[in-house]
Amino acid sequence: MVSRVIPVDPFDLVIFGGTGDLAKRKILPGLYRRFLAGQIPSDSAIIGAARADMDDAGFRDLARAAIVEFVAADRIDDTVLAAFIERLSYVSIDAQGSGGWSALKKKMRKNTVRAFYFSVAPSLFGDLAERLHGHGIADEDSRIVVEKPFGRDLASARELNAVLARHFAEGQIYRIDHYLGKETVQNLMAVRFANILFEPLWKSEYVDHVQITVAETVGVDGRGAYYDKSGAMRDMVQNHMMQLLCLIAMEPPYHFDPDAVRDEKLKVIRALDPVLPEDIVRGQYLAGSGQGGYRDHAGDAASRTESYIALKVNISNWRWKGTPFYLRTGKRLRARTSEIAITFREPPHSIFDDAEGWRENVLVIRLQPNEGMNLMVMIKEPGPGGMRLTQVPLDMSFATVLGEEGEDIPDAYERLIMDVIRGNQTLFMRGDEVEAAWAWTDPIIEGWEKRGDRPRGYDPGSSGPEDALMLMHRDGRRWREIRE
Ligand code: NAD
Repeated sequence: MVSRVIPVDPFDLVIFGGTGDLAKRKILPGLYRRFLAGQIPSDSAIIGAARADMDDAGFRDLARAAIVEFVAADRIDDTVLAAFIERLSYVSIDAQGSGGWSALKKKMRKNTVRAFYFSVAPSLFGDLAERLHGHGIADEDSRIVVEKPFGRDLASARELNAVLARHFAEGQIYRIDHYLGKETVQNLMAVRFANILFEPLWKSEYVDHVQITVAETVGVDGRGAYYDKSGAMRDMVQNHMMQLLCLIAMEPPYHFDPDAVRDEKLKVIRALDPVLPEDIVRGQYLAGSGQGGYRDHAGDAASRTESYIALKVNISNWRWKGTPFYLRTGKRLRARTSEIAITFREPPHSIFDDAEGWRENVLVIRLQPNEGMNLMVMIKEPGPGGMRLTQVPLDMSFATVLGEEGEDIPDAYERLIMDVIRGNQTLFMRGDEVEAAWAWTDPIIEGWEKRGDRPRGYDPGSSGPEDALMLMHRDGRRWREIRE
């Protein structure tokens, strides 16, 4: 199956923070790959803007090195890379200073899509927005892209929204959650709303529970001090996992249109119940296998920040009342995996004697590794010996289905940047959505802070704290095994 590449309009993209880690690892390699795919017209311009004193040649060298490091070797085509690098230039700018802005203005062309990627600390968003506006560099068609974290609580998210809203309309603001750019995440919508098969069963009457797992094997080494100020709830649940939950739980939008989709997601967030203290388990990985524990990495022997969290979340609406959503995410766990598992209820009556062989139908949507879907169904165990039941997966691995081109599925960042140029906000979070997510998150965090709750230790390479197992056992359910 050959995927179609539809070129975007020519654009001028300014990357504030163009010399930073994110630009090097994701943005520049992603742009190169889209250029290679023929999606970026050759008269587009990419302008790095950062504090470093650097000229065009210096920035081009930096970009070339980053692309060679972070793009697969078989995707490096020297001629295409040279043509891409030629599209790059650089301006030295301090977001809080006055130098460099007129040089940037001179570079911007008329009648070309203008996008500004704020790949800098959120504390600089206001300065950038103000100067882009003040120097007449951004017009009403310009787009700005902002990175996570979007606030650390409701108050700071509101403040960020207000700062941006001073100079840009909501329709110009693209808040990135790279989870939304993943192929499988979008497939969730296709599977739900382009098939008649699942939607009739997609409700508490037929769905027993939903599990969403994002497990990492890495710790926070290297960025422990930074991570210690946020923790798993702020870093993963409030944004990425919330988005996954919304896509599973939302009502069908009337049309695949940015605001229609985001309206439906917002309704889900607003319908989330507060989470009870007994429905939350937090953990910190311990030292082991020659590596330090979370507290060593955080540089704080008394840290109470969680590197793991499991939660039972209830949604109070007609569709989901009575179907809990169990969320868990953590670092230094057994395997690196992200998946959503929808477990269906028992058939109302069994005609078979082999009750033991029976297992629930489960639809597993794997985000990584091996993006794809599995539907666990019951069949007869092959061979003679009577009617015994066994469960098998109906396996749809996207890499297999999509053939060789499947390997070249665009990375989330590539897709999202192209959506910015196209002016499509469907896969970006709206300001009210982010605020609603914080409004739900804040009391949960305040609750454990007030109670003086301490995270439980868990062994590195395990599935998380023992108590998290109890969270499900209590309800007569089990977590799925964490494995690749
Ligand atoms: P970084 O520290 O590696 O780079 C920061 C960049 O900002 C540099 O180019 C620096 O020159 C520039 N900068 C700093 N102060 C400036 C100023 N006053 N004026 C102009 N430029 C200035 O940071 P990063 O890891 O690239 O992260 C950038 C943003 O993206 C942050 O908001 C971060 O939270 C977010 N983010 C990063 C990642 C990642 O994987 N690195 C992932 C998700 C979100």
